Amino acid sequence: MSKKEEQYDVIIVGTGFTGATLAFSLAITGKKVIVFDKKKREEIGQDQIIYLDKKIFNSSKLLQTYKDIENVVRKTFFYSSDLNFSISLQKREYVRFNLKEYINYMVESAIKAGAKFNFETEITDPVGRGQWVIGVKTKEGKIVNGKIIVDCSGTERILTKNIEILDLNIKISSKEYVDTFYSRNKIEKSEKILNQIQLEGDSFYCLFDREFVTNVEKENNTLSFFTVVNKNLTKRKAKAVTNEIINRSKGINLSPINSFSEKVVVRRPITLAWYGFLSIGEAAFQTNPFTVEGKNLSLIALNILSEVILDALQKKEVSIYRLWKYHVEFFKIAGRHLAALEAFRSLILSFDKEKLYFLFSKGLISKAEIHRMFLNKYPKQTFFDFLVKFFKGLTDIKTTYRFLKGLRKINYIFNHYTKIPKEYDPKPYHDWYIKQLYLFKVFKKYCQN
Ligand SMILES: Cc1cc2nc3c(=O)[nH]c(=O)nc-3n(C[C@H](O)[C@H](O)[C@H](O)COP(=O)(O)OP(=O)(O)OC[C@H]3O[C@@H](n4cnc5c(N)ncnc54)[C@H](O)[C@@H]3O)c2cc1C
Repeated sequence: MSKKEEQYDVIIVGTGFTGATLAFSLAITGKKVIVFDKKKREEIGQDQIIYLDKKIFNSSKLLQTYKDIENVVRKTFFYSSDLNFSISLQKREYVRFNLKEYINYMVESAIKAGAKFNFETEITDPVGRGQWVIGVKTKEGKIVNGKIIVDCSGTERILTKNIEILDLNIKISSKEYVDTFYSRNKIEKSEKILNQIQLEGDSFYCLFDREFVTNVEKENNTLSFFTVVNKNLTKRKAKAVTNEIINRSKGINLSPINSFSEKVVVRRPITLAWYGFLSIGEAAFQTNPFTVEGKNLSLIALNILSEVILDALQKKEVSIYRLWKYHVEFFKIAGRHLAALEAFRSLILSFDKEKLYFLFSKGLISKAEIHRMFLNKYPKQTFFDFLVKFFKGLTDIKTTYRFLKGLRKINYIFNHYTKIPKEYDPKPYHDWYIKQLYLFKVFKKYCQN
């Protein structure tokens, strides 16, 4: 880089939840930060109520200044799409606020602290020198240089995808794995429809189905339906699904229930830390759009990431080895949680309603287990656990056997998460990643049969 060019400590692409928070947290430490977003200033952030786990929120040093929190939600219900089944997660408290207001607050605070924002500026590529990422290129061809480049561009993954492909070609030759990786991310844009349904209490509702997820937000007795369709699982349109939900929910049934259904697609990173480069949030496949957990997971990642960035800048070492620490730490904290959401629910979904009822009624699946899964405390099943469950389910031995075999496979997957290489070294990491894809593939096949 020529000395005349301006160089930033950190370049951030995207001012969604992660980009805005990161910009603020780095700017207040005095770092030279520049942020790009292709949207107009007034279009930043969705006008959407979001829920963050109170514990994670409070532990986040990044958000201590954000006091504009509406209130705390003490009950979260997860409903099946026909509203006949729900799980209530009462032990977990959520803070609730408007995402657009939050992002605007973070942007304004970051600007006050000295960060530079460029709206209506689309970034098209990372700029590399040798194996280092040293800057970004705008659509107009302008190059901006930085010591650390962070991709916060959400599902667009504008920088990550370029760097990933490079790495994939070198390290993962199997087309099958590459295809699996990309096919996991086809999500149709969501649509919003308003409908009047009366629900009791101050709670947050989330509906699940095999093909889609619908968030329901209650405000002034109006529930807004927000549907996301996974294109891998259905050809239906989000609007058609939403209408169906509204029609079905006319005879709404709020009785406590015993089932849980959702198809979750969890995405994992290939190369999300490189020399001088990191990605976070949706861009880093850390979030799971099919749950209400996305922003909580982003928040966990943000806490780790800002410390790793400050440490790397201070030590003047933005090598992949130092930056990789961030992903290892994230996996240690949240990897199993992501795996549990995908694997456990896939297994549950592979049983029909009757068999599910059997599994619940015999205590082979319990609400407590699902609860623990959400709290990232889903335990390994020991041989003794299997034995107890086996005897509980003796009256339908075929269903019990199939369920327990599925749980065993989940155990392998969980076990694999404990083996992620602690230090970044491409070879063991890619071996780990491929094995992980393989384990999920075998598991999914098992669930489909
Ligand atoms: C359909 C859907 C529904 C979801 N629902 C929930 C939910 O209910 N609860 C939850 O917690 N999480 C949910 N998530 C997950 C949620 O998206 C993440 O938790 C989090 O909002 C991701 O934030 P982010 O900052 O990574 O990306 P985003 O919020 O998507 O921000 C990306 C930003 O980057 C900008 N950008 C993109 N490309 C470029 C470019 N080339 N140049 C410049 N700027 C660019 C965009 O304009 C945007 O402002 C959902 C995700 C999806 C996809």
